[in-house]
Amino acid sequence: MAGLSAGFVPAFIQENVDLSSRNTFGIRAHARYFCAVRSLQELRVALQFRRVRQVPLLVLGGGSNVLLCADYPGVVVQMSLPGIEVLAEREGELLVRAASGESWHGFVQHCLHNGYYGLENLALIPGSVGAAPIQNIGAYGVEVRDLVSAVTVLDISSGEIETLTAAQCEFEYRDSVFKGRLRGRKIVLDVTFRLHRQPRVNLSYAALAQALSEVSDPLPSDVFAAVCAIRTSKLPDPAVLGNAGSFFKNPLIAKTHYDKLLQSYANLPAYPVFDREGQLSTTMVKLPAAWLIEQAGLKGKSCGRAAVYQQQPLVLVNLGGATAVEVVSLARQILASVERLFDIRLEPEVQWIPAEPQD
Ligand SMILES: Cc1cc2nc3c(=O)[nH]c(=O)nc-3n(C[C@H](O)[C@H](O)[C@H](O)COP(=O)(O)OP(=O)(O)OC[C@H]3O[C@@H](n4cnc5c(N)ncnc54)[C@H](O)[C@@H]3O)c2cc1C
Repeated sequence: MAGLSAGFVPAFIQENVDLSSRNTFGIRAHARYFCAVRSLQELRVALQFRRVRQVPLLVLGGGSNVLLCADYPGVVVQMSLPGIEVLAEREGELLVRAASGESWHGFVQHCLHNGYYGLENLALIPGSVGAAPIQNIGAYGVEVRDLVSAVTVLDISSGEIETLTAAQCEFEYRDSVFKGRLRGRKIVLDVTFRLHRQPRVNLSYAALAQALSEVSDPLPSDVFAAVCAIRTSKLPDPAVLGNAGSFFKNPLIAKTHYDKLLQSYANLPAYPVFDREGQLSTTMVKLPAAWLIEQAGLKGKSCGRAAVYQQQPLVLVNLGGATAVEVVSLARQILASVERLFDIRLEPEVQWIPAEPQD
């Protein structure tokens, strides 16, 4: 690739772009440079441009898991690479590869429509395929790690393309190697999923089993419809009320800590924790952060135009025109209250950009 001269801005890179419509929180922030890349070649040009300008890089998908805390002084690259293809089919198992720019829900629909089963429980999660492995998206009893076979990435500094196995992705609850050791070092180009030809449904999540209790032998399409219906009834639509889904992770705490809390909160719910091999932990439990926030009396609480969603206190919403400072201030009040009451430090699930915002 020919070198870019210092003053040159490629036609597909725009300057001073408002990102309000590119993050589901609807927070107003500007990118110094912005581009939606539709090919590997455009991505390489954008990376070269950023090197020449010596500015930082932010990779975005659908912007549904970020809180933009300030204007971005570098290049924001929105991954828009398209494409879905079946790589192999053997003994009822399919390897299906989807490019990072595909819409996640669109991909789930595509698979269901073509009889590639396994993704139904993850229907209606906003965002892109490329972001799915970043925080190991999960819902209704399934995590994407259960279905990922391989992830193709571009190394930002060397430009090399590498393939990571699912084990190398080091998936954990809402976590992966991309949020840890490899943070800011790799860009996901595509993800390959191991799916099934034979319908098999996962009704391990109680609310889902309950929703389908009247259906005998539910099909993947029933699961898909039920998940969509439950999600629509519980979660605010970002197109109507800006939000980024669960703002905090459900905390994992020591069983001894939980037993102590039970003395004051007899009805404190807890979920089992499983390790990567699927072994049940005897020392840790997972608590619903929504319950902790509600107990702290914060349901419906607001700070300026940012509020704790009344129907689901794990979600913070933009009532219209909220600033990142308001969202951060509300989040900090929640963190402080929950820590004071329960001695538990909640961890944001949403990525704050930059990580330590100025207020
Ligand atoms: C209403 C609502 C409901 C939600 N429900 C769920 C849920 O049930 N389960 C769940 O797990 N999540 C949920 N989320 C969170 C969100 O949808 C997921 O985390 C999703 O995977 C984010 O995708 P995105 O493309 O929007 O990522 P973005 O928000 O654009 O990016 C998220 C992070 O990934 C990085 N990133 C994005 N694409 C790439 C790439 N190609 N290569 C490298 N890094 C990349 C970004 O830099 C950023 O750090 C919900 C969000 C909303 C708004």
